[in-house]
Amino acid sequence: MMKAAPWPVMALFALSLALNLWFAGVPDWRWIPAALAAWYVADLLSGLTHMYMDYRPCTPGIGLDRLFHYAGSRESTDYLALRDRVMPRISPFERLVYDFKNHHPRPDALGRRPFLVQIGSTILFVSLPMSLLLNVLCLALAVPGWLVVAAIVLLAGGTLAQYFHGTLHRADNPWIVDAMRKLGLLMTPQAHALHHATLRRDFATNNGWSNPLVNAVFGLATRRGWLHESGLEPR
Ligand SMILES: [Zn+2]
Ligand SMILES: [Zn+2]
Repeated sequence: MMKAAPWPVMALFALSLALNLWFAGVPDWRWIPAALAAWYVADLLSGLTHMYMDYRPCTPGIGLDRLFHYAGSRESTDYLALRDRVMPRISPFERLVYDFKNHHPRPDALGRRPFLVQIGSTILFVSLPMSLLLNVLCLALAVPGWLVVAAIVLLAGGTLAQYFHGTLHRADNPWIVDAMRKLGLLMTPQAHALHHATLRRDFATNNGWSNPLVNAVFGLATRRGWLHESGLEPR
C-alpha cells in the first residue's frame, strides 16, 4: 500500500526545489514556452507510466488475485490477514503496480487518500533523486535559466501526477484545480472517464494533452505484443 514519505525526505525535497528555483535566476519570456512544453512532457510521462503499470503482470500464484477480487468487507479480519500475508511477498515497486490495477474496480479510494500519501512514493523514488541531480548539474554547469524552469515544472507535474489523478475522482477540490481545468491546464473528470470505460486509451491524467500520442504508443505496444490484456488483473 502507498505510504507518505518520511518528513526529512519532504524537507530535503523542498530545500532542493527551492535551490533549483534560485538557480533559474531572473524570469524572462522564454520561461513561458519552456514551462508549457514541460507541462506537456509531465503529462506524457504520467500517461506512459500509467499505461505500463496497468498492463505489467503481477507475480502470479501468491494470492494477489484473491486480494484483488475479495468479495467481502475490506475491513474484515479475514481480508486484513490475507493482505498481511500477501503484501510482504512483493517488492515496493510491485505494490505500486498492484495499486494501479486496484484503482480500476475501486476508483474513488484514490481521491480519499491524503495528499502526502498520494505523492509520497513519487517523491521518494523519482522526484527527490531528480531534483538533487538538477542541483548538482546547476552547480557544475551553466544551465540556462529557462531550462532549469522547464525541469522544475516537469518535476512539479510529475510529483503531483497522482494527486491530479485523485482530484478526478473526488468532488471537493481546491479552487485552483477548477481554475486550471477551465484553462485546460488540467483535465476534466469527463475526459478521464474515457480511460475507466475502456482501460485501453487516455492513460495520461494531468491535462491529457499527450493522450493522442500515448494512444498511438498503446496501439503499437498491443499490436507488437509488448502489452497484453492478461496483465490488467493479478492472477
Ligand atoms: Zn488505468
Ligand atoms: Zn482514475
